[in-house]
Amino acid sequence: MRIAAIRDENGKRFGIVRGEIFHPFLWEGAPVRDLREVIENGSSFTEGAAVAVADVRLAAPVGPLTRNIICVGKNYHEHAKEFARSGVDQSGDRQESPDEPVVFTKAVTTLADPLDPIRTELDPTRSVDYEGELGVVIGRTAKNVKREDALDFVFGYTVVNDVTARTIQQRHKQWFLGKSLDGFCPTGPVLVTADEFGVPDGQELSTFVNGERRQFAPLRDLIFDVGAIIEAVSLCVPLEPGDLIATGTPAGVGIGFNPPRYLQPGDEVRVSITGIGELVNPVL
Ligand code: ZN
Repeated sequence: MRIAAIRDENGKRFGIVRGEIFHPFLWEGAPVRDLREVIENGSSFTEGAAVAVADVRLAAPVGPLTRNIICVGKNYHEHAKEFARSGVDQSGDRQESPDEPVVFTKAVTTLADPLDPIRTELDPTRSVDYEGELGVVIGRTAKNVKREDALDFVFGYTVVNDVTARTIQQRHKQWFLGKSLDGFCPTGPVLVTADEFGVPDGQELSTFVNGERRQFAPLRDLIFDVGAIIEAVSLCVPLEPGDLIATGTPAGVGIGFNPPRYLQPGDEVRVSITGIGELVNPVL
């Protein structure tokens, strides 16, 4: 299934995309406004009046988020090297490739829709950078899950842009603030259920800025794969249905260039993953 969300006057409503048509879910005649209801009851919904995807604006296909977005840093080898070179990494050992996943979170107020602007004026240090990533949505409570069982706990996959204010990330040592400015987690355009997406492996992630490809990697290049991430996190924090995990970004972020190529007003960022689609956000 390809799950999507649109907005109406009362908020977000979830539905299914077949071909180029969005079919809104109904539960006892009412719109479905929480992804957790989709995860619990998805097969029992009826459907409301269909609309062409081209005629609507899609919203982030997750939420409402009740907990921070869990993120993994330095999770592709080439990116770990460029990040070490940049000097931004103040996270302790500054190892290029970590022995264990580097985990941080983004505030729930970062969640943003496809086509929402990334607002550079929110960052007084003007060092806004992109990070195209595979997003994982949890489907059932996961506690002390082993890597080999972990994919059974995944509901589906989406595309995330882990937008980051680099100077804030650097100066506060911890990454939470620099990663948590309002709207700094555009997500979408759809969520593809795990049975349809398959195991993350040969699917390719690309990020384009103004049409120039900056990032590219097959998902098998993750240092810690989705199972290893769920194992490491669920050892400490139970994961709950609807939780969103951003799995890390490949090489080619703006801070990897010398001088850095930060996002500027007027830019457009596109992050795509094979089998999911393309997440597009203008930069203001
Ligand atoms: Zn990231």
